[in-house]
Amino acid sequence: MKHKIFRSVLIAALMMLTTLAVFAATPKTGFNYVASSAAAKKVFHLPTCKWASKIKQSNAVYFVKREDAVKQGYKPCGVCKP
Ligand SMILES: [Zn+2]
Repeated sequence: MKHKIFRSVLIAALMMLTTLAVFAATPKTGFNYVASSAAAKKVFHLPTCKWASKIKQSNAVYFVKREDAVKQGYKPCGVCKP
């Protein structure tokens, strides 16, 4: 019984670490554009945009290609002009 609990805690910790590792690696290579799924206006940004940095991690939607963002109904930001 105790052993089982220990295992699930270990698995949960490993999953968290994996998520963190993926998140840490993402900004370097994973995407070129970012949008917020919670915003009233569907707008996408360059990761360097000041508005992109305000997007909550839990609401962030990432795109590799500009056309993928456009296809999903997102408009380019007027500030960073992605
Ligand atoms: Zn922007």
